[in-house]
Amino acid sequence: MTVVLATRNPGKIEELRRILAPYGIELVGLKPDFEPGPETAPDFAGNALTKAREAAAHTGLPCVADDSGLAVDALNGMPGVLSARWAGRHGDDLANLELLLGQIADVPDERRTARFVCAAAAFLPDGRELVVEETMEGRIIDAPRGTNGFGYDPIFVPDGETRTSAELTSAEKDAISHRGKAFRALAPLLAEALRG
Ligand code: IMP
Repeated sequence: MTVVLATRNPGKIEELRRILAPYGIELVGLKPDFEPGPETAPDFAGNALTKAREAAAHTGLPCVADDSGLAVDALNGMPGVLSARWAGRHGDDLANLELLLGQIADVPDERRTARFVCAAAAFLPDGRELVVEETMEGRIIDAPRGTNGFGYDPIFVPDGETRTSAELTSAEKDAISHRGKAFRALAPLLAEALRG
């Protein structure tokens, strides 16, 4: 069963390929002639479904997509769906992280709770759609640590850990991450939908 992943990120394809393979699902990337549209939905599930739906319309194949971000309680759940462009430019990880640290600089430890959220969606050519959402709970520290991962990983310590998610190995992060949990939840639902 071949499923297209609506992303241009090769790291994501490798990671999700490992998660979906045990369910008999082979994940392939998008052809270079397709450019996903802007993310305009107010929530992660809406953005993930839109990406999967657009890719399915383009390829005629079942497609999966994800949308993720960081929700900080002291910022009323922001940056949320705006995580990738919080400092004004898409994908400027360092500027995003520094802006966020400045915004919560005076927030005491006990109120620095936050979570990464991931919505994983699938769209089938017959119009059926699936979406699941998972989180990784934790807290924001006051200075970056670690060089693995990406985005806000250097300032996020998952619950039950003393290391930031940028100090975990990728296998350790996959086991507890919002994205790992969301795609492990989606996989059996998608395998069943593809069979029926
Ligand atoms: P997208 O899901 O690829 O649109 O990513 C949204 C943004 O959320 C990323 O650019 C990061 O800033 C942030 N983000 C999502 N997941 C993670 C993660 O696992 N670690 C660190 N930052 C993340």
